[in-house]
Amino acid sequence: MRCARLAIASGGDFEATAVNLARGLELSLVQPVVNATGVLLHTNLGRAPLDSSFFGFSDGARPTSLEFDLTTGNRGSRLTAVATLLAELPGAEDAIVVNPNAAAVLLVVGALAAGRDVAVSRGESVEIGGGFRIPEVLEQSGARLVDVGTTNKTRASDYARAITKRGNDVALIMRVHPSNFHIEGFTEQPSLTELAGLGVPVVSDIGSGLLDARCPWVEGPPPSWLHGEPAARQTLADGAALVTFSGDKLIGGPQCGIIAGRGDLVAACRAHPLMRALRPGGQTLIALQRVLLAFAAKRACTDIPFWAMATSSVESVRERAVVVVDSLGAARSSTLGLRVEPTDAVPGAGSTPGATLPSAAVVVDGDRCAELRSGRIPVIARREGDHTVLDLRSVAPADDAVIVESLASLTS
Ligand SMILES: *Cc1c(COP(=O)(O)O)cnc(C)c1O
Repeated sequence: MRCARLAIASGGDFEATAVNLARGLELSLVQPVVNATGVLLHTNLGRAPLDSSFFGFSDGARPTSLEFDLTTGNRGSRLTAVATLLAELPGAEDAIVVNPNAAAVLLVVGALAAGRDVAVSRGESVEIGGGFRIPEVLEQSGARLVDVGTTNKTRASDYARAITKRGNDVALIMRVHPSNFHIEGFTEQPSLTELAGLGVPVVSDIGSGLLDARCPWVEGPPPSWLHGEPAARQTLADGAALVTFSGDKLIGGPQCGIIAGRGDLVAACRAHPLMRALRPGGQTLIALQRVLLAFAAKRACTDIPFWAMATSSVESVRERAVVVVDSLGAARSSTLGLRVEPTDAVPGAGSTPGATLPSAAVVVDGDRCAELRSGRIPVIARREGDHTVLDLRSVAPADDAVIVESLASLTS
């Protein structure tokens, strides 16, 4: 920036400066890549993949009815339709969308507990990543954190004591899904039903955004890799007053944060001044609307890229890997040491810790990651020991051609 300003100020050649600037930034500009890491929701690669068709309409540069009510011709709310879909799918009374889930948590505690206390188990007072730390978010919202229980064991009676303790003014119990780590061994946490009976609204930050543990949009039983993952519908049914979750994790949608649950509490969040500052943009809402309609129509596994990747059969992934290797020819395959191997892909984004999805990869001898990143379309692979693994479960089938192109251009 500084050199561009200097060039302009001194009457320099603006075009040449712009070209130089773009060159210097080339690799740091946000650009499309192929995710062959096997981590389906890769936080560094923008989590859930969505193509541009999700974010707009095909009829050119037309405006949208973002805040216009087509029935009355008056001003409308950008959140009406999406809120209805978002409430319907997990069986909530009402819902709102903000941007992102960190903002959802901030808004909930700011709207419902500012100047009051929020009870959080010591085992759930966590950092989620990207510096999102529960104690700090509470502090920012103007609520006070009341630590409950211990790191490994917290009981309902610990919460009850925090609520009735003199001097405390507990407005909410907050549960946080420890999405990116695992406490094992001598541990205990009360059930949601026990907590819901304590007379204080329970807010559960489930993070990963599974809408319904029964996965009615998947043919057959719910996928085994989702086992144990908290879901919005069941969390509300077990007594949570509100759930908060991300739009770009297991929903497979755009980056956003969702608050769903009791009507009066959602209304209080909607009415809070922070809502205006945290509201999502039109493109986010258009994409979320598409994704939610796909769930409602039970078309998630064909229409939502993350669900298509996660539910495709391991045989089909393996067949694609075989086609990639075959299309490079026997001679090239043998110089590069190309082969197909079984792998374990993971859902990613801190969801389902420990769960894996059987997958297949194209494997190349040596560390080829940097070369693969520098192709026409960067391919992000994973190094394992002395070879490079390109897991095809996290690659859209349409991008297999890019993998072939990228492998064809490796120096042998
Ligand atoms: C991912 C996650 C967040 C943060 O969500 P963003 O959408 O990235 O802001 C908060 N809480 C939990 C439990 C999470 O898993």
